[in-house]
Amino acid sequence: MNSTDNTPTLARLPTLAHGPDWTWRNRFRALGCEYHTELQPQPMHESHWIAHSDACAALLGLPAEWQMDPRWNALEVFSGNALWPGMQPLASVYSGHQFGVWAGQLGDGRALWLGEIDTTSGPMELQLKGSGLTPYSRMGDGRAVLRSSIREFLCSEAMHGLGIPTTHALCITGSSLPVRREALETAAVVTRVAPSFIRFGHFEHFSQHDEPDSLKRLADFVIEHHYPECLNTPQPYIAMLGTVARRTAELLAQWQAVGFCHGVMNTDNMSILGLTLDYGPFGFLDSYDPGHVCNHTDHKGRYAFSRQPSVAFWNLHALAQALMPLIGNSHAALDAIDIYKPFYADAMRRQLRNKLGFTTTEAGDAGLIDWLLKQMAYEKTDHTILFRRLSRFSSAEGTDNSEVLGLFKDRKFIETWSKAYGDRLRSEGSNDAQRAAAMNRVNPSVVLRNHLAEAAIRQAQGGDFSEVQRLLKVLQNPFDESIDGTDDADFPPDWAQEIEVSCSS
Ligand code: AMP
Ligand code: MG
Repeated sequence: MNSTDNTPTLARLPTLAHGPDWTWRNRFRALGCEYHTELQPQPMHESHWIAHSDACAALLGLPAEWQMDPRWNALEVFSGNALWPGMQPLASVYSGHQFGVWAGQLGDGRALWLGEIDTTSGPMELQLKGSGLTPYSRMGDGRAVLRSSIREFLCSEAMHGLGIPTTHALCITGSSLPVRREALETAAVVTRVAPSFIRFGHFEHFSQHDEPDSLKRLADFVIEHHYPECLNTPQPYIAMLGTVARRTAELLAQWQAVGFCHGVMNTDNMSILGLTLDYGPFGFLDSYDPGHVCNHTDHKGRYAFSRQPSVAFWNLHALAQALMPLIGNSHAALDAIDIYKPFYADAMRRQLRNKLGFTTTEAGDAGLIDWLLKQMAYEKTDHTILFRRLSRFSSAEGTDNSEVLGLFKDRKFIETWSKAYGDRLRSEGSNDAQRAAAMNRVNPSVVLRNHLAEAAIRQAQGGDFSEVQRLLKVLQNPFDESIDGTDDADFPPDWAQEIEVSCSS
């Protein structure tokens, strides 16, 4: 059994008479009590709406103005004060490696799974984050502060807008409930949505606790519901591991291509579905710095931007290790995850080729791209702005593209690289207008830079939530040309340098 001494004893919450017309499935709950503890959220009184995502609501089939429907009282439900019929809350147990070290049992210390519903995009699970103590809270208070909740909410929807696999966020509610971090802050709850919240750490838990039957049932569950194609292979567990490796490779290439730094790539934050999961001290690159560490508590830089792809492989290794009781043969397990490397390399090449607007592959491409990235790192060029501007590059022979490449100071570089890039584009008969349109579909005009989130957070802490909602709309359409030239797409202000993001959330 997974219950521990600090199991909160909580009064039962009211179940409201009406909720949305959802079909509940709750398959993870049916998996059995060794995977979770059923419990109720802890109420967060005097709650109020902070923000909601219409895109996520549409995914769940909710009607417009769902949050205002008096029959449903969604504010109470998504603050953890009431349940809708069909919700069966529980906290799941997992373990994991944190900063490369085995950390033992972790689990949903402040998240509660509410249930799983059918949607037109397949079954989706709903989860509250910050809804109070669970048996897995350890020394924590089970709460999340408004600041980190806004960051998670905005970034989930921003990643979705960028086309990067991620958990979604439906809404944030806030309250005056005080929460102590470095300073006294207030509590908030984010409602997250995903096909599954199962992590590498769920497998590590049952493996390390020497519970092979539970490990097997978890793997069978994931295969049956999420990777059914693996069932028709001679070795379904090896096939599952390979599929996770491929999805993780694809995800990492997408992170690297937009300059996303996760900040805490512990194995308990790695999704078995290859989704971006658990937004904490993340950051998007402003200037291109491969050594950038976005989490100020990561003193050794384990999760530095350029290390993310190899950390993901390390994490896959931990998953392979966890699955050994099912796979038996360590060579087969290692072979299964080894495909991560060529897959990642391929995916990254594809991402970079698209970022530069190439439609063909040529021998010198890697060198040309590498040359550009090295200069960007040397001159600390703004990552997002440089790639967005590059779509305006003219491939006509003899054109002076120094305005497009004006972010660089090194004239010699501008001249020589421009010439090489122009030659490369002409060699594939690139059409400037078509290329610009294609590049603007992969190089965003806006990403959730720290200063954008910070401005929304500061206003929200003062009681004005309009900037959160405005920024959300911008981030949901990050390729929209109407954003070009606005403050959202501009360089970070000087004060952005002083923003420190830590694990404290
Ligand atoms: P994270 O670094 O946010 O992914 O969290 C690592 C572990 O600590 C997970 O088991 C979380 O559920 C737990 N945790 C983080 N913050 C809190 C908190 N305020 N209260 C309880 N558990 C927490
Ligand atoms: Mg986590």
